[in-house]
Amino acid sequence: MLYYAEPVARLIEQLGKLPGIGPKTAQRLAFYLLNSDVLESKELAKAIIEAREKIRYCSVCSNLTDEDTCRICQNPSRNKTIICVVEEPRDVVAIERTGEYKGLYHVLQGTISPMEGVGPDQLKVRELIERLKNNNVTEIIAATNPDVEGEATAMYLARLIKPLGIKVTRIAHGLPVGGDLEYADEITLSKALEGRREL
Ligand code: ZN
Repeated sequence: MLYYAEPVARLIEQLGKLPGIGPKTAQRLAFYLLNSDVLESKELAKAIIEAREKIRYCSVCSNLTDEDTCRICQNPSRNKTIICVVEEPRDVVAIERTGEYKGLYHVLQGTISPMEGVGPDQLKVRELIERLKNNNVTEIIAATNPDVEGEATAMYLARLIKPLGIKVTRIAHGLPVGGDLEYADEITLSKALEGRREL
């Protein structure tokens, strides 16, 4: 990093910490910012700080929100008898893009992964069970990723929730095994929702 002035080196280092940004891309982005209008850099910095400071987790579903409860939980036209359980907030975005699903969500904030020491207590499982107690939910869609951890998490949820008299279904159809929900196209994802089976 001796080739750069110290602030440039620091900018490249920070950009390089972002996922998917290698050293070359970090350098390209840094030089782009340094060559562009200073206003552009200020807007970017402001957007990052504002998002970090204003965005928190929905007190109901753990989705990202800038209010106490997210827009989906607040929306009176959503079907409140069905909850789609996903791993991450970005999965909510992926399913919303299909335009097919009108129920509610619950974001687990990860999956059960014994290898990484993540158990149900580290996830928003307790919050999900609490939600089921006071509501008229009739179906839970386990929409975790179709990989080993996602399947294990779906099975765990089914074991936990079925005794409460609530149907637990699993998305399956059309999604590649080992794949990532986030990268599925809208059609594949809406077919997966349509083809869900009971667990
Ligand atoms: Zn919410």
